[in-house]
Amino acid sequence: MMMDMLTANLAPYALVPLGTLPDQGRSIVLVGPDEPAFWPLFTQSPEYKDGAPDPMDRWSRRVITHIAATLDAEPLFPFGGPPYAPFYSWATNSGRFWSSPISFLVHDTTGLFTSFRGALRMPPGDYPYEKSTKPCDTCAQPCITACPVDAFANGYDVTACKMHVASAAGQDCRTRGCLARRACPIGQGNRLPAQSAFHMESFLCPYA
Ligand code: SF4
Ligand code: SF4
Repeated sequence: MMMDMLTANLAPYALVPLGTLPDQGRSIVLVGPDEPAFWPLFTQSPEYKDGAPDPMDRWSRRVITHIAATLDAEPLFPFGGPPYAPFYSWATNSGRFWSSPISFLVHDTTGLFTSFRGALRMPPGDYPYEKSTKPCDTCAQPCITACPVDAFANGYDVTACKMHVASAAGQDCRTRGCLARRACPIGQGNRLPAQSAFHMESFLCPYA
C-alpha cells in the first residue's frame, strides 16, 4: 500500500523504485529512471534546456526533493559530495543489484544500464524488501567480450575506454552507448541512443 503510493508519486516523472533496504527502523528506496519514458520527459525540463552544467543532477535534486516533501521522506543523492552517500552498498544490500563480471552494477530489470537519480529515506511503513536472483549466474555473459578494446581484461581500463570512445572508431559507443552494457540481455533496448549519447558526453567532458 505504502509502496503503491510511493510508486504513484514517482511515475509522473518517469522514475521508478529500483530496490529497498532497511535503515535503522526506516526504509531506503533507491530511485532510477523508467526507460525509455524518462528521456523525452527529461528533455522537456528547464534544467535540460537552460544550457547550464549538470542538467540531470539538477533536475534530480529538484524533482526528488519535491517528491520527498510530499511523502515526508528524506531525499538522498549520489552526487554533490564529498562526502557521498553509499549508493553502491545500498544497492547490493537491497538484493536487487550485484557486481557484474565487468564490475559495473547489474540490476534485475534494468541490467547494466541501471542508474540512480536519488533515493528516499522513508518514514516507518510497509516497504517490502523484494530480493531477486542474480541474472549473471545463468547468462552466457556477453558483456565480458563485447568491448572492442577489451577494456575489462583486467578491471576497468578507463583510459583505454575513453580513448576509444573519443576516436572515430568509437562512434558506435559514443552515439549509442557502451557496447558491453548493450550486450546485457536484461532490459536490453530500453535506453534510448540519445540518452546514451548524453551520458557519454558527460563521461568524456564531465565539466562541460
Ligand atoms: S550480460 Fe549477463 S553476465 Fe553480463 S551483466 Fe548482463 S546478465 Fe550479467
Ligand atoms: S564504452 Fe565502448 S570502449 Fe568503453 S567499455 Fe564500453 S564498449 Fe568498451
